[in-house]
Amino acid sequence: MAGQEHSHGGDGVEDMALTGLTFLGLLLVGLHEYLQPLPPGLYWAALALAYLAGGVPPLLRALRELWQGHVLDIDLLMVTAALAALAVGAGLEGAVLLALFSISGTLEHRAMGRARRAVEALMQLRPEFALLQGPQGVTEVPVESLKPGDHVVLRPGARVPVDGRVVEGTGRMDESTVTGEAAPVHKEPGAAVHEACVNLDGVLVVEVTRALADSTVARMIRLVTEAQAAKAPSERFSDWFGQRYTVAVLAGSVLAFFIFWALGRAPSEALYRAATLLVAASPCAVVISVPAAILSALSAAARGGVLFKGGAALERLAEVRAFAFDKTGTLTTGRAEVTDLIALDGDEDRFLTLLAGIEAQSEHPIAAALRRAVAARGLRPALVREVKSHPSEGITGVDDQGALWAGNARLSARMGAAMEPRLAALESGEETLVLLGRGAVILGAATVADAPRESSAAALVALREAGVSRVVMMTGDRRPVALRVGGALGLKPDEIEAGLLPADKVRLVEAMAAEGPVAFVGDGVNDAAALARADVGIAMGAAGSEVALQAADVALMAEDMAQLADARRLARRAARVIRQNLVFALGAMVVLVIGGAFFELPLPLAVLGHEGGTLLVVLNGLRLLADPIRKG
Ligand code: ADP
Ligand code: MG
Repeated sequence: MAGQEHSHGGDGVEDMALTGLTFLGLLLVGLHEYLQPLPPGLYWAALALAYLAGGVPPLLRALRELWQGHVLDIDLLMVTAALAALAVGAGLEGAVLLALFSISGTLEHRAMGRARRAVEALMQLRPEFALLQGPQGVTEVPVESLKPGDHVVLRPGARVPVDGRVVEGTGRMDESTVTGEAAPVHKEPGAAVHEACVNLDGVLVVEVTRALADSTVARMIRLVTEAQAAKAPSERFSDWFGQRYTVAVLAGSVLAFFIFWALGRAPSEALYRAATLLVAASPCAVVISVPAAILSALSAAARGGVLFKGGAALERLAEVRAFAFDKTGTLTTGRAEVTDLIALDGDEDRFLTLLAGIEAQSEHPIAAALRRAVAARGLRPALVREVKSHPSEGITGVDDQGALWAGNARLSARMGAAMEPRLAALESGEETLVLLGRGAVILGAATVADAPRESSAAALVALREAGVSRVVMMTGDRRPVALRVGGALGLKPDEIEAGLLPADKVRLVEAMAAEGPVAFVGDGVNDAAALARADVGIAMGAAGSEVALQAADVALMAEDMAQLADARRLARRAARVIRQNLVFALGAMVVLVIGGAFFELPLPLAVLGHEGGTLLVVLNGLRLLADPIRKG
């Protein structure tokens, strides 16, 4: 309703106090008119209280808008209507108008406060810890403790903890959070890096140039808070509807006054009819219906651990009928186990330390499994430098004996290594195979198995039951592994695509998108492009890579697949509520205007119809706040 909800004070306490005072005044005026006449002094004081508490805030907002050169808005309409009512001796109706206007503004404000907190939560996705390079090696320290001059190590897939400058290593960086530019930027020693950007593939050593409080995200949070204070979400709608329409309503009411007068009514009666029309035609309910529903749904989702980056993603999720899923780390837990290994020279410990050494800086779930296996045997990973990740293939690096690689058969083929017959026993299995090699020589292999998330199978069923017609699993892993996991999840072979590179996922998502809106759910660096290409990109929250979180429109913070079906149900409910609200608000407005123009609709009824309608759409929207998205 109040198209311009500036955060005046913000927490809504004073809003509620003002609304309370308005109602108190209204109560006394009503008492006077219907039950027990009050002494004139008290009556006028009560009327003044209702008008001042209910009318001054919107009047101030309206004046500020006018002062800033904006067109008139609903605040001004409401104040004008209330004053017109007072002028024709309908002080009570004017007070009702102001009281209800005030309470729906307060409710909207509350819904928006929650949404603002959700945005702040999103901002908190910045890393908590950084890898500080000290005299005794690399240690994990809280990001707040970093000082200019410190050196931190950035692994591939990690977000930059504070602003800094590259001193060692080269690689590409995704700076889209800060610059909005999607293309990765090449970084080499001397280049500046910004907090919250994502290191894509190289291992970088960065010298801190700004402490946390002065770094990019802190500045962005300040910007966002300021931007939100200045521009409420509902403004987008009221910009084109509210403002243009407000002028029309004001002009129309003036015109109506003259028409009624010309038709032979007394001036006071013509004024009464014009005031009635003014109230009847005010678009409060239409303007508030969309944001009330969207904000409520967004904050209900945020409370359940599902962060939408805006209302557009919510609306698109409601339309999606096809879902594509990444396998590793998305449908599966990503907490893989090393199930078998063969070191071709027979020295398993040496083989494992090398493998864990090269995987030490990778964020891939496979790497974590190998590191755990090495730790379980009480071994220390070998020192491997210049590590570069190759999404969907593996990882390369250099140790004291030269270049090393670890990855799947595709990577091994690229390295010119021939398949090793002694590994055939591992090769045919339904587990993920990781080969370790030096140039064209294969040193050995390990198998890694991960299990589906407990929530995955049920979530797929829930999605299908809710009308999702196509579900596809897309993975960079080998087909036998994909078939084992897919089978456990109830997927049919033609719903499983294996052996994919990041670009293949994009191509398949595009093909699906040709048949209707599609959502992609993923966690890895290798999913980022598909997440960005899909109509709705959904990333796994905490364990997902930062790149994926950036590319996505929605984040599942609790990593519970059940959240996915819940979020879609919420989105569809929100879409339904928005439709209901718009139809109802427009319908009510048309009925009231016709009543006001042709059927002698009394002003009190116009006020009740108008404000009651507004209140109803707000409450209808707020219903979504109660929608349960379970917590993980
Ligand atoms: P998914 O698409 O299912 O999430 P990925 O595309 O991340 O899987 O990985 C596909 C395959 O690439 C893995 O099964 C593995 O063989 C190989 N791979 C990717 N990253 C690594 C790594 N860090 N170490 C070893 N192998 C890797
Ligand atoms: Mg993955």
